[in-house]
Amino acid sequence: MYSIQTLQQAVPRLLAWFQREKRDLPWRRNRTFYTALVAELMLQQTRVEAVKEKYVAFLERFPTERELALATEDEVMKAWEGLGYYSRARNLKKAAETLFHEGTPQTWVGVNALAGVGNYTAGALSSIALGLKEPAVDGNVVRILSRFFADPSTADDALKAKYVDLLRAVYPDETADFCEGLMELGAIVCVPNGPPLCENCPWNALCLAHQRGEEEKYPVRAPKKARRVETLDVYVLTREGRYALRKREKGLLKGLWEFPNVSAGSPPPCPCNILSKRTARHIFTHVEWHMTGYLAETCEDGGFVWATAEEIERELAIPSAFSAFKCWLK
Ligand code: SF4
Repeated sequence: MYSIQTLQQAVPRLLAWFQREKRDLPWRRNRTFYTALVAELMLQQTRVEAVKEKYVAFLERFPTERELALATEDEVMKAWEGLGYYSRARNLKKAAETLFHEGTPQTWVGVNALAGVGNYTAGALSSIALGLKEPAVDGNVVRILSRFFADPSTADDALKAKYVDLLRAVYPDETADFCEGLMELGAIVCVPNGPPLCENCPWNALCLAHQRGEEEKYPVRAPKKARRVETLDVYVLTREGRYALRKREKGLLKGLWEFPNVSAGSPPPCPCNILSKRTARHIFTHVEWHMTGYLAETCEDGGFVWATAEEIERELAIPSAFSAFKCWLK
């Protein structure tokens, strides 16, 4: 089923296509290991369009690993605000500290040891920034190759490992273009949602699923688990023109600022007078939050940090999970 010869023929076609068709993205200009690291961590689970603006602003604020390593966690979180999945920001700071103190790693193993860098990102950084023949296989590459081979295997970690081996066998010297070419093909031609644009694909004469007209049969997915639902009451407490915040101590969004909240139906975090109410939902990868938000006045300090709307806007990163309630900050 897996033909190395066919995959070998596909390599120069992808390289030529990528040279012609690649998008002008900010992280493809003036690349260093550090800027590639910033881009890769931002792009994990986040759309290119959402990352573009944030990436430029983040690098203006932290142009090298030095500035990021020496920044406070709150400064980094503020610059990351809106991108979600904040553990990536914390990991990026840790990785910048490693680069700053120990220098840039030169092997896949060294790259893989950086905070927040898994096998896929280690392959991408090794290929793109270090010129190493180390494949990067994520869901996009699995989708492309499972169609290319009309592969009936379930898309899981074992299949990823199989594709890493296959790609390693044909990896060309143009490591960065090959790695990015695959990413680009998955982003703009062999797309995840809706039918692939096979007429624009450099592999359409070689792709088995396309020859059979069965592109959308692949990849074969394992059945999805339902997300867990958590219900929360979120309080935007106001006192003398300031609003109550606290840092989350555990679980999702740990270490980030949040409006005080309790499990739905529990007593409020301090005595208060409800002024307004609204509901919102936020979907994480494995969990959904169903929230009822309350704008409420209080006379109690409650042990919270109290900040004005301007201070919150300027200095404190509140995760997008709570953004539906930020409209109450005046
Ligand atoms: S020919 Fe179509 S299905 Fe095959 S790799 Fe290209 S876009 Fe994907």
